[in-house]
Amino acid sequence: MNNEKKIPFIDLKSQYSFLKNSIDSAIHKVLEHGIYINGPEVREFENMLSDFTSAKHAITCANGTDALSISMMALDLKANDVVFVPSFTYIASVEAISVIGAIPFFVDVKDDFNICPLSLENAINDAITLGLKPAAVIPVDLFGKPSKSEELDSIFEHWSLKVIYDAAQSFGADYKGVKLGNFGDITTTSFFPAKPLGCYGDGGAIFTNNDDLAKKIRSIKNHGMGKHKYEHVNVGVNSRLDTIQAAILIEKLKIFPDELKKRNQIAEYYNNNIKPVHRSDLTLPHTSEERCYAWAQYTVVSKNRDLIMEKLKAFGIPTVIYYPLPLNKQEAYKDSHIVSSGVKTSEDLCNKVFSLPMSPYLDQEHQDYIISCLNTILHELD
Ligand SMILES: *Cc1c(COP(=O)(O)O)cnc(C)c1O
Repeated sequence: MNNEKKIPFIDLKSQYSFLKNSIDSAIHKVLEHGIYINGPEVREFENMLSDFTSAKHAITCANGTDALSISMMALDLKANDVVFVPSFTYIASVEAISVIGAIPFFVDVKDDFNICPLSLENAINDAITLGLKPAAVIPVDLFGKPSKSEELDSIFEHWSLKVIYDAAQSFGADYKGVKLGNFGDITTTSFFPAKPLGCYGDGGAIFTNNDDLAKKIRSIKNHGMGKHKYEHVNVGVNSRLDTIQAAILIEKLKIFPDELKKRNQIAEYYNNNIKPVHRSDLTLPHTSEERCYAWAQYTVVSKNRDLIMEKLKAFGIPTVIYYPLPLNKQEAYKDSHIVSSGVKTSEDLCNKVFSLPMSPYLDQEHQDYIISCLNTILHELD
């Protein structure tokens, strides 16, 4: 079966077929009015983002990596400031810290893939022992799970850490019914095509409820602009969302709530029907009563990962490893600070995680096929 219709890992083509008319005409409209930079669609999309998240300010920029570095510039982080970041995440989370000249400090994660509060406290104490200044933290909502928790909040507060949530994978998720974008000092996201809300190129956004920060972020992303185009009050960068991308995102955001529902239904269906038998050692992703996830990825953990992936491939089912190496082991970061208690969970996860196809357009037949193939493989392993 399924040889006729290949299962895509992330299905952007079906989404485009579904939205073709509205997206084509939105792009066409931009071509007609010709305001390719800072066109009216950009502000319209920012207003929609602000309505959707209820964050007071939503400011678009060129990509999710810029969103992080602009946020750190707005918070005045600089050389000698330590910024804590999980070692199990995408490279961009740490790259932004280095780019602004601050000091990245790697912290371990828990088995739910997000930053570990105990490890963070250890790292803060380590930094102080080393004579460094703990300044900020970037909790990453990996695979779409909000990392926001009361336990973390009390640590942030106790140590007066500035908090930037990296919500590149969790746009649309919420904590106790409050959408991400309203927590910490700043929340950033990415509209890279494969993210929960993706455009047809690069894009990003920054959310905050703080008026002064919002003003500074708007200035920094726009060459540090002051009151008018040729007055510059901050050291800035050039980081804009193209008008065409904004026009595309407007159409995609309209159907996003339905897509998010679909992702959650698929994750629940996977969770209820994949049957990890004893010795196959497969762990399904955590879920939480207090949080709605964005399910950027549906990620499972098994010591038999490589074998399971190979067998799934033979059934025509694509899987991907996010991420094969903890960031502290990357060549560029091998000399960085790591929490003294180690990043064992991150290292272990890198050897065991893999993600199954996830997309709002994954049809029932394919979901059932993936589940039945995986269950067969797990049964054979046992
Ligand atoms: C994708 C991603 C980013 C960066 O987004 P870009 O738009 O590709 O720059 C940052 N952090 C995480 C966790 C991501 O997954």
